[in-house]
Amino acid sequence: MLRSLTVSDPQQIDSLQDAGFNAMHVEASAPNLSILLEVAAKHSLPVYGRIRLLARPGLSDTSPTNTLGQQVEGAECPSQPLAQDRCLQLCERVAAQFPWAGLQLMGLGFRSFPAQATDHGDANFYRSICFCAACQYGYGAAGSILEHVAREAIETPSPKHPTVDTMLLWRRSVQYGLLRQIHDLVSTPLCLHTAAELRYTGDRSSLTFEEAKGLVASCSVDPESPEDLARLTSLPRPMPVYCTSNIAPESFSGVIL
Ligand SMILES: [Zn+2]
Repeated sequence: MLRSLTVSDPQQIDSLQDAGFNAMHVEASAPNLSILLEVAAKHSLPVYGRIRLLARPGLSDTSPTNTLGQQVEGAECPSQPLAQDRCLQLCERVAAQFPWAGLQLMGLGFRSFPAQATDHGDANFYRSICFCAACQYGYGAAGSILEHVAREAIETPSPKHPTVDTMLLWRRSVQYGLLRQIHDLVSTPLCLHTAAELRYTGDRSSLTFEEAKGLVASCSVDPESPEDLARLTSLPRPMPVYCTSNIAPESFSGVIL
């Protein structure tokens, strides 16, 4: 069983094996990455690199943009071709850096807006639907209906419109396409961190374990509540799925759902 700890301090590595860990995770963007990798190699410890996709400081043309014109800062929309290119370049660069045991892909999905105290029902979900140029193109003819539906639902609770299902399906096809491109580009085994935004967008916004089948060696999840955990546990799991919470916040170890 994988018992890995996320490490940022090289001194932690010396005692990892004695503490029962058989691998370690590091942030691929860690400023002291080369030292961490050097010490891990000395101990012959398998190292997993964590890549944070679709993160970009500030606001730009590729930022997620909702129907009110508000943007998510620090993130990119996965349907934007430029953002996809940056993801691929990042994965290729990190994969070439070290003989990783695996690469954990974080943030491969659509960002949601922070919930507001005044939100009713699904208001946050509708406020989080992206209407950037690339998403609008992807929605096609359903886009203008979806925009109308989203605006209304932000204001007052409304029954779910069929265009929402179309949008969710399309959104998952975007994520699948990006994951497939990463899979085809790098030979390192991949671990997909999925359903990260469950509390805002529902599980149909994230790729399911079954949808990721064939493209990743494992998945990781970070359930925020016992309900989330129960729901994730009830899903078909065609690959090992690691739970990164509920033990110790910094640990990636052990629990296979
Ligand atoms: Zn978008």
